[in-house]
Amino acid sequence: MNYTDIINRRKFLKYFGCCTCGLMFSSCTTVPITERRQLKIIPESTLNRQAAQIYEKVKGKETLSDDLDQLNEIKEIGHNIEEAVSEYFHQNNIADPTANFKWEYILVDNKKIKNAWCMPGGKIAVYSGILEVTKNKNGLSAVMGHEIAHAVAKHSVERASRSMAINLGTQIADIVSGGKISGASRAAGIDVAGMLAQFGIMNPFNRKQESEADYLGLIFTSLAGFDIRETTKVWERMKETNKGKEPPEWMSTHPSTTRRIQQISEWMPEIIFKYPPIKKL
Ligand SMILES: [Zn+2]
Repeated sequence: MNYTDIINRRKFLKYFGCCTCGLMFSSCTTVPITERRQLKIIPESTLNRQAAQIYEKVKGKETLSDDLDQLNEIKEIGHNIEEAVSEYFHQNNIADPTANFKWEYILVDNKKIKNAWCMPGGKIAVYSGILEVTKNKNGLSAVMGHEIAHAVAKHSVERASRSMAINLGTQIADIVSGGKISGASRAAGIDVAGMLAQFGIMNPFNRKQESEADYLGLIFTSLAGFDIRETTKVWERMKETNKGKEPPEWMSTHPSTTRRIQQISEWMPEIIFKYPPIKKL
């Protein structure tokens, strides 16, 4: 770690803080690049399997677009980001967090939904509604980079683990206070699948995870050779689209769009400099 790395890390932690995992410390892992500690007690493979099943259901239920040119652009952007991410971790001797991903892309024909997502394991969906906001290839890469970053940083695994920990914690408190033996057996035989269904893997991410996905998304998109200066423009357009519909930041689990644009603008020059388009060695 050189001096600039320390500065960057400090700068980053100023934004993201550090989770205190307490009793669960041994189950903590670290998000690559940002080095934020996260709780991971649910196996990633479990979540990936679950996500793949849900993805199949989505494919069956939604109307998939027949715009092949657009789908091909999505796939091309995706492949570029996939390769850049793997190459980056390879060159830096860090285990590739996407090594067991099975990347897949769909374009859902729904103009009303201005959204895209990437489920654990690299299952991606873009809704045609968001294309009015992304406008061009760089804009679309910004959105896809952000969604892919959620998956690379294993945000769903973290969220599911936290839900499970909260539930376990409640049961332990139950035992300590009331001496309920039944609670102990429930804690031991906890049903992971039921838990995931209860909290849902499609719930929104929290504010810290959103900012982290913004940060990592910029890095991955830049490494993949896209012009990340379009990112703030996409968010400006998104803000215009959502005019008046956004809750105040203090009420929301998400950073406000204004705050997002501000953070992204602060990070951008350094990321362009530090993470230029990556070339295969
Ligand atoms: Zn997000």
